[in-house]
Amino acid sequence: MDKKQKAKNRFLDNIPHTLSGSKALKIFESSKQGLENGEAQKRLEKYGKNELDQNKKTNKFVLFLKQFCDLMIVILFVAAIVSAVVALVQKNYSDLIDVAIILGIVFLNAVIGFVQENKAESSLEKLKKISEPYVKVVRDGQVTKILKTEVVVGDIILLEVGDIACADILLLEANSLKCNESHLTGESEEVLKLCDITKPKDTPLAERNNIVFANSSITYGRGLGLVVRTGMDTEIGKIATLLTKEKKEQTPLQSKLGFLGKFLTFSILIIAVVIFVLSIAIDPSHDFVKPLLLAIAIAVAAIPESLPSVITIIMALGTNRLAKKNAIIKKLHAVETLGSCQIICSDKTGTLTQNKMKVEGAFCDGKLLEGDKLIDTKNNKHFLNSLALCNDCITKSDKILGDPTEVALVEFVAGLGMSKQNFEQKYIRVAELPFDSNRKLMTTYNQIEKEVMAYTKGAPDILISRCSKILKDEKISKLDETEKQEIEKLISKMASKGLRTLAFAYKKHTSEKYELENENELIFLGFVAMRDPPRETTNDAVRVCKNSGMKPIMITGDHAITAKAIAKEVGIWESDSLLLTGKELDALTDAQYRKIINRVSVYARVSPEHKVRIVNMWKSFGKVVAMTGDGVNDAPSIKAADIGIGMGQGGTEVTKEVADMVLTDDNFSTIIIAVKEGRRIYHNIQKVIQFLLGTNFVEVASILIATIFYPQLVFLLPLQILFINMITDSLPAIALSVEEAEPDIMNEKPRSKTENIFGGGMWQKMVVQMIYQTILVVLTFVITYNLTQNNTLATTFAFVTLSLSQLFHIINVKSSQTIFRKHGLKNTLMWVSIILGLLLNVVVVSIPQVAGVFGLVPLLWWQWLVVVGLSLTIIPIMEVYKFIVKKIKKSKQNKN
Ligand code: ATP
Repeated sequence: MDKKQKAKNRFLDNIPHTLSGSKALKIFESSKQGLENGEAQKRLEKYGKNELDQNKKTNKFVLFLKQFCDLMIVILFVAAIVSAVVALVQKNYSDLIDVAIILGIVFLNAVIGFVQENKAESSLEKLKKISEPYVKVVRDGQVTKILKTEVVVGDIILLEVGDIACADILLLEANSLKCNESHLTGESEEVLKLCDITKPKDTPLAERNNIVFANSSITYGRGLGLVVRTGMDTEIGKIATLLTKEKKEQTPLQSKLGFLGKFLTFSILIIAVVIFVLSIAIDPSHDFVKPLLLAIAIAVAAIPESLPSVITIIMALGTNRLAKKNAIIKKLHAVETLGSCQIICSDKTGTLTQNKMKVEGAFCDGKLLEGDKLIDTKNNKHFLNSLALCNDCITKSDKILGDPTEVALVEFVAGLGMSKQNFEQKYIRVAELPFDSNRKLMTTYNQIEKEVMAYTKGAPDILISRCSKILKDEKISKLDETEKQEIEKLISKMASKGLRTLAFAYKKHTSEKYELENENELIFLGFVAMRDPPRETTNDAVRVCKNSGMKPIMITGDHAITAKAIAKEVGIWESDSLLLTGKELDALTDAQYRKIINRVSVYARVSPEHKVRIVNMWKSFGKVVAMTGDGVNDAPSIKAADIGIGMGQGGTEVTKEVADMVLTDDNFSTIIIAVKEGRRIYHNIQKVIQFLLGTNFVEVASILIATIFYPQLVFLLPLQILFINMITDSLPAIALSVEEAEPDIMNEKPRSKTENIFGGGMWQKMVVQMIYQTILVVLTFVITYNLTQNNTLATTFAFVTLSLSQLFHIINVKSSQTIFRKHGLKNTLMWVSIILGLLLNVVVVSIPQVAGVFGLVPLLWWQWLVVVGLSLTIIPIMEVYKFIVKKIKKSKQNKN
């Protein structure tokens, strides 16, 4: 047993569920005030982080070795060794230089592959760190948020709805606390957890209801507990080794490309074999070393082995850029899906609006009060009690923290010269029925002198239906239907100004139990109307969203009239738009709903369950749907959506866990920015594929043509092909991966989910480029040879033309638009790769010793001008093509 384990045993020696709270606090040397920060730090160092060591990072050396496991690299190695042996046997030592250089190039390729993959891994690792969950812990008597991994045994944890338990926690306090622990027990029913009980030693896991196990989600209520086990010592940790290792996620595009890669590999291998056989048959000396190397060089040149790693790099760089723009990608496939997003369903409060609320009006004592008159609410003791007591905000260093709706209430009370703390100290809370977004109500029970009083607040339309009486001028009277309707009219009046309304009621509590059934026969106190202004960026984001062919939809738990007013203000509402409430949606059959769904822009007073129906209905039309969510019950709709979006600030851990993307600023406009990034990333992947496959094809096609029609001549040597491949493949491909978005990227319609990766006019463009470049290279070779009868010179001409025209072609691939537009030539990395490529060509051709090894001859200055000129022709050719395509597109648009 190592030292760490021995030290740990001090705490591991006990059986947590057999302990009472007070005994456990003693054993774990803690208190309800929590550990001191210094002590917590010591325990963290001594016992290690609170994490499962299930998914350790790949060792760097292993990652490097992995580069050599590629099928092509293995073939190349074997071939190089065979050639070396043959060269030694035949005493043909000059061939050994070729072999050595080829091996060198392979090694360099592996290094580049390693650097790229390492970069991708570390940036994804960084991303994981950003999205690591935080937990609420009491340390030094203060509630603070710390990283889940920093939790130690003895820590005191606050548990709330939507949290995911960070460790095994023995409960010290539990208020209607319910959890889902199906990951351990397989039981999907939520379990009620209790404090102040002990369980016998041999109690089965599912019955240890004084403990909240790590990874359980809190579905209801609230609790406070002591961490008794962390990391691998937790119940989930014990079975962690049995759990399947987290697989590296492959996005649909990556797997499609994987398949394409395999298909190309085998086709090219067949072509390589054909060339090998042809060369041997044609060559009278029947030397098989050169043809073998040629065949292999073709295979290596043509197979886009760098494609998967370039795609990974593009994805990794993209996710990093997204993180900087406040969108954390949790599941890599979201990067692709974002680009084809068609429907964006967004919460209102906090996503479209600022979530900074201010009370602007109140109805109390039968009167509607606004502006200076609001002070009159001071006369209604129970109204103020309900605002301050039925409220979970806490004050920390003079700041009011909590749900913005409740913060607004506390600030309102403070504006009247009173403090929430005074209310709380005077009238102790004895029990509570927490808020949930299905029933849209919350109740607290407070000791008011000798009586227990229930204060309920919630959605006015719901609360008012639970009230039978009203308090006016300290007198309680019957609340009849006419008065109810009058109050509802006032609520609508305030809501039509875009104000959020919240109603309050109370009653004397006489029962022993604190149950939901108690929220009936209440005495109506009044309501408040709060302004929650739209975010400054919302209107612009909604406009861009519509221009780019996406439909924004507001889904809110708020009042229908408030929702419609805000929808109009931010531009979501159109002249023919419809609003559906949760109730109206329930009344519709699928067939009826299907008919109108296109027109519904706002859903109000909906419950989280409705969101699932909305997502599924849109998906049944084949649409790609994004859905935001923050509450604990939003997890199913987030899961159901193509792009589930969690809220970093106001969202629960449960929703963040299942989300594909988390917004760190909870802002709607960030979704639109992310869609733009998604489209850019997809375009760049397409550009890389277009570039790599297009240029590789030219190499294979020209070699094939030359071998068939000019068998007596040496066209390109293996070493030259490998060189071109190295220079024209890796560097420019990386340059394309950082290419900025096309200027009109957000004026395009979303890409269809089923669109082929070669779609969007890409294959046509590739065909033009491939045919032109192949003809150019073969003709350059043939004409030079015919004019000079010098094979090496003709090879040099063909080599430089092929190499440079591929290098210059990156300028065409960079954008689907003309290079003459603004920023048409902007991409520093692209210029670096072009200049570097040019210099390396000059080195290989102009230094006689190097040229000799590569089978080339130095060129004269005018010969350079000729080859550079010929290579540059690929730019005007593709410019003309782009121009024609643009004209055709325009005339099609005009016809439509
Ligand atoms: P959105 O769904 O747009 O994010 P929302 O806050 O209106 O915003 P819910 O949180 O589901 O949606 O709330 C629904 C309704 O419940 C609100 O309109 C309000 O009337 C009421 N409500 C919200 N918060 C509370 C609370 N803390 N206590 C009691 N009632 C609340």
